[in-house]
Order: sequence, then C-alpha cells, then structure tokens
Amino acid sequence: MIYETNSPTETFELAKKISEKIMPGSIICLDGDLGVGKTVFTQGFAEGLGIEESVNSPTFTIIQVYYEGRMPLYHFDVYRIGDPEEMYEIGYEDYFFGEGVCLIEWSKLIEELIPQDAIKVIIEKNLQKGLDYRKITVEGVCE
Ligand code: ADP
Ligand code: MG
Repeated sequence: MIYETNSPTETFELAKKISEKIMPGSIICLDGDLGVGKTVFTQGFAEGLGIEESVNSPTFTIIQVYYEGRMPLYHFDVYRIGDPEEMYEIGYEDYFFGEGVCLIEWSKLIEELIPQDAIKVIIEKNLQKGLDYRKITVEGVCE
C-alpha cells in the first residue's frame, strides 16, 4: 500500500490506524532518511497501542520498551549501531521473537537480522510536492 501525507499529524494518524491491525510478534521495519518522520510514525503507532507516555528516539540506548499498551512495544533505533553484532549484546532475539511488537528505525543497518516476514514501512520526501509531503509505502500488513 502507498499512502501520502502532508503533515506530521497525518503520518501520526496513519501509524495509529496501522497499529490497530498489528498482531503480537510482528516486526516493523521503518526506513527513510534522517528527519523524514520515522519517530512521528512510531509515536502514532504507540498511541494506537494505548501507550500514553511520550515516545522519542532512544538516544543512549538502542532500544526502549513500553509496557502500558495492549501489547509491549519494543522501539529500536539502530542508527548509532556500529556493527549488527551489537544486537546480540542487547539480546535482540528476546524482543524479535517475543510477545510484543518491534518497531525498528533504520532497520537497513541490521538487514541481515531481519526476518523474512517483517512488515516494511518506507517513508520518503518529495520536495516537489512540498516540505511536509511524505510518501509512505507499507508492505506486509493484512488489509
Ligand atoms: P526521523 O525519526 O525519521 O529522523 P522525526 O520523526 O524525528 O524523523 O522527524 C520528522 C520531522 O518532519 C518532524 O519535525 C515533523 O514535524 C516533520 N514533518 C513534516 N511533515 C511531516 C509528515 N508529513 N510526516 C511526518 N513528519 C513530518
Ligand atoms: Mg527517529
């Protein structure tokens, strides 16, 4: 599916809607350049799960866990990861194959660890369509 948004709010609402269809155990890869809206998407997604605390990109850790929603949310931002090996050090398998849903910003950097059946969300700008325009491609969510 391809979606188009023209404001952060629209991206937030889209992610919130998508979160309603997500099953426990899902892995969602979130890719796109810096500042494209991956964290905005994560925030809407978290709200859709019923998480009220504020969600930001984990700055000093690779992962942040939120338990208050209808299932746990494991929010990864692997931008600062030096080597996919670091994922083993944080015990990523417990999250990838756990009870909750994983959202992984910059999943491309750990591509070899991503299971085949992961959901893919790619966010892109198109400056010809305006500063706030985003094309959001979603693959693997059951309609
Ligand atoms: P990332 O996590 O991909 O680095 P952020 O989500 O932190 O990016 O930041 C996205 C920035 O782009 C925010 O400042 C947000 O207000 C802005 N923005 C403008 N238009 C949109 C849009 N359509 N969708 C999402 N964010 C948008
Ligand atoms: Mg981010």
